[in-house]
Amino acid sequence: MKYLLFLPLVLLLVIGCRPGAKTSVATVNSPVLSTNVWNMKDKVIKTEGEWRQQLTAEQFRVLRQHGTERAFSGALWDNHEHGAYVCAACGLELFGSDTKFESGTGWPSFWKPIADGHVGATEDNGFFMKRTEVHCARCDGHLGHVFDDGPKPTGLRYCINSVSLAFAKRP
Ligand code: FE
Repeated sequence: MKYLLFLPLVLLLVIGCRPGAKTSVATVNSPVLSTNVWNMKDKVIKTEGEWRQQLTAEQFRVLRQHGTERAFSGALWDNHEHGAYVCAACGLELFGSDTKFESGTGWPSFWKPIADGHVGATEDNGFFMKRTEVHCARCDGHLGHVFDDGPKPTGLRYCINSVSLAFAKRP
């Protein structure tokens, strides 16, 4: 009889662990992405030492330590070629030239990521500001921030460090 007391607990465990139960994803807290999430199986995970070896000092400072490059100092804010902007750390495609726009900020600016789930977002409350930080969903490399003062059709402005990106030119 006393085993019946455990029945509700067992039921709770079974229900909580069933396939399809709530799981956390890289793009949690994102106000801008749909639920079509990039494949978490293929995450790129490296040690700090490995990243230091692979990246330049400036790339490491921005991508791995959430730094910000000086405005108008990067290689890509004024780039007008057709192509894809990929993560400088892992190569995942992040933005397309068709969504790049002139923001006047001195940082490459886009109104949408190239695909759902490629760019993750988290709340950033540093420097007494409430901002939304954005990062590469595959390697978690810091890219920049997203603001809601962008152009149509999304009204979003992804303000991205040039140094976090590499450009793949396409016809
Ligand atoms: Fe990446």
